[in-house]
Amino acid sequence: MHLTCNQEIEGSNPSGGCLIRGDDMNIIIMGPQGSGKGVLSRHLNSKYGFALISSGDILREEIKKGTKLGKQIADIINKGNLFPDELTLELLKKKIRSSRQGFILDGYPRNLNQVKLLEEHLESIGKDIDLVIYIDVPDSLCIERISGRWICRNCGAIYNTKTIPPKMPGICDKCGKALYQRADEKKEAVEQRLQIFHEKTQPLKNYYKEKGLLKVIDGTGSPKEVLQNAISIIESFK
Ligand code: AMP
Repeated sequence: MHLTCNQEIEGSNPSGGCLIRGDDMNIIIMGPQGSGKGVLSRHLNSKYGFALISSGDILREEIKKGTKLGKQIADIINKGNLFPDELTLELLKKKIRSSRQGFILDGYPRNLNQVKLLEEHLESIGKDIDLVIYIDVPDSLCIERISGRWICRNCGAIYNTKTIPPKMPGICDKCGKALYQRADEKKEAVEQRLQIFHEKTQPLKNYYKEKGLLKVIDGTGSPKEVLQNAISIIESFK
């Protein structure tokens, strides 16, 4: 890992400062659904240029294509269950391999088997993980946030009726297209996803702690505060 987060100015950013490019840093962002992983990952992607690899987004892209695989994915994820470990990693491999300036993995790995599969794959292509950021948020707040979440079908921008409301309800500020709520963000699916998170994903926190890679961020504050915390952690790797 060679982080050179200095000097390339790209414009304004959510932290209010200037954007700086980093390189060659591979980060996993972990946290329960509604912890703000997606928003933080996007901000870090635009700040440092790390490739953003979101397993949930990649699976949803397959669903959008309307393929047979897409239909199988929809059947599983709309109920809040996990898609098979190997198949999910297969869909991510191309993006991982082509990332030139480090990557942010949002949503993978989600269980210990995925950790193993990911490690084997990274080793085979000469990459590894430098940092795992865990965003800590209680379930009650996650549920509150998810039920207010709206996404742009066109550009993928994420809004929240409480914390990041669009200027016009139901319309994307960035591209003017309609916003929608995800099928897997209905109450039953969210409860199922949180249960799976506690059973299968939370043990990864200890795993990465023992490897000395884990940093925990309090995710109960604003997206800006969470971003500032993440930036401090990343900058401390310089
Ligand atoms: P996310 O947007 O990360 O919350 O993911 C949405 C849904 O996609 C999850 O509830 C799972 O059904 C599926 N999914 C995302 N990442 C994975 C993964 N690593 N393994 C299996 N299924 C996944």
